[in-house]
Amino acid sequence: MLEKNFLEPQHSRVFESLEKIVGKSFVSDNIEELYYYSSDPSAEEPVMPEFVVMPGTVEEIQEIVRLANKEKIPITPRVAGLTLSGLSLPHSGGILVDLKRMNKILEVNQHSMYAVVECGVTTGQLKTYLDDNYPDLWFTLPHAPPSVGVVSNAIIHGAGQISLKYGISSDMISGLEVVLPTGELMRTGSCTLGKSWFSKYCLPDFIGLFLGWFGATGIITKASIQLWPRPKVRDMFFYKVDDVDDSVDLLMELIKSEVCDDIYVNSWTGSSIRRYYTPEKPPDMPEIVLDIFVSGQKQEEFEVKKQIMLGIIDEAQQRGVKIEEFTPPEAVKSTMLMVPQPLPFMDLRIGGGAEYLGVYMPTEVVGEAYKEGIDIAKKHGFQYLHLIRPFRTGHATGIMYTFPFVKESPEEIQRLHKALEEITDMAIELGGVLWKPAPSLHKQVLGHADPEFVNLIRKIKKLLDPNGIMAPGKWVA
Ligand SMILES: Cc1cc2nc3c(=O)[nH]c(=O)nc-3n(C[C@H](O)[C@H](O)[C@H](O)COP(=O)(O)OP(=O)(O)OC[C@H]3O[C@@H](n4cnc5c(N)ncnc54)[C@H](O)[C@@H]3O)c2cc1C
Repeated sequence: MLEKNFLEPQHSRVFESLEKIVGKSFVSDNIEELYYYSSDPSAEEPVMPEFVVMPGTVEEIQEIVRLANKEKIPITPRVAGLTLSGLSLPHSGGILVDLKRMNKILEVNQHSMYAVVECGVTTGQLKTYLDDNYPDLWFTLPHAPPSVGVVSNAIIHGAGQISLKYGISSDMISGLEVVLPTGELMRTGSCTLGKSWFSKYCLPDFIGLFLGWFGATGIITKASIQLWPRPKVRDMFFYKVDDVDDSVDLLMELIKSEVCDDIYVNSWTGSSIRRYYTPEKPPDMPEIVLDIFVSGQKQEEFEVKKQIMLGIIDEAQQRGVKIEEFTPPEAVKSTMLMVPQPLPFMDLRIGGGAEYLGVYMPTEVVGEAYKEGIDIAKKHGFQYLHLIRPFRTGHATGIMYTFPFVKESPEEIQRLHKALEEITDMAIELGGVLWKPAPSLHKQVLGHADPEFVNLIRKIKKLLDPNGIMAPGKWVA
């Protein structure tokens, strides 16, 4: 039974102030609404906020932040809350700031190819807007539900369909406007000079003070995101490979050829052939399914790239690598070519939970990380479900460890935490860095870091957020 357990008279005082700032319709302390924000699909502990507030303007966000400082109440910003690692849960209660009303697309510059968006603009919204108005342009789209935020995807260093060619979503931010934890409004990038949001060059670059911090250094209110030419021809190719090391060798060759838009190295459990949650691999299944995407602005360009890609596969076969092309049903292929692509494997088990831990690694060690991930998953009683995906011409490669789990089983959640902790240590030992780790892993990650790096995080946090109100539980307690 959920109950309100708020400290009076502060609770009523803050509630009334929030009503004055955003209006009665956009603040709530109703238990049913608070409950909605108290958990997500991840294995993180649920926690109730005390208030949910939906600001509609930058000035309202500033006033909320000033109020939180005056009352020393924590603030957690959120758009969709779908990181699958609990990053927008209100770890110390307080005010949950739902940013969905900040949903204006303020500018699209088709010549310098950028869009300026408010912090609540969703990937689905920006995609639809570009489809309708600028069909020659697109942006990096995570294969996530269309309700996730464009800006929040950059905050988590997300990855999309153009990440192999151009980098991850945080590489594509050219400017930010931010409400600092004490309420001041600042800009970084060319937009700080007033006129254009085209570039993050050539002033001191403060963008990194706000991306990857999960809200702990302020609330981003606007961002300039790079757009890219949208290819006119696009297709994909499917291969079965028996061995993960062969797949990684092939991956490195394909990356360096620069003819592929995106490459997925899927474990058999979650591939384009079929999704499985069975303890043993069916005998006719390869260990790996490779999905390779190729595109071009013209058919001729596409054909040349395709021939180069096929030549690399052919050479591998001649060396004795067991790799076989296959054609999936047309419905599978057309779904895979969608952007974003539906990912129907988070719910491989009935039970409502999905934890999605990623690690960005040097490409040459992902095969090892794949194999060790199998051992860890099995040791803790889970089926493994891995996806390897290279970024930025191979300067980093992501390996995603997905764990569908049963939310109502505390015993299973405990085993899952153990598995996640072991993957964290293993991946860091191999040279990796965790992608959007759950807050319960932050201390462990920082335990591996250079102490002066950790000191600097603390100093920056103290300097920007003297009252420690912003997104508690992220990187520093
Ligand atoms: C089925 C599925 C598939 C997915 N596939 C992919 C994929 O292919 N690639 C990928 O990159 N991701 C993927 N994701 C993750 C998804 O893209 C992320 O959830 C999303 O990018 C983050 O957006 P959000 O709106 O959910 O963020 P939220 O959870 O709302 O926020 C993320 C973090 O940023 C903070 N924050 C939010 N807004 C602000 C702000 N304005 N200022 C400061 N801090 C803020 C929050 O406090 C939180 O810490 C997938 C998710 C699902 C459910």
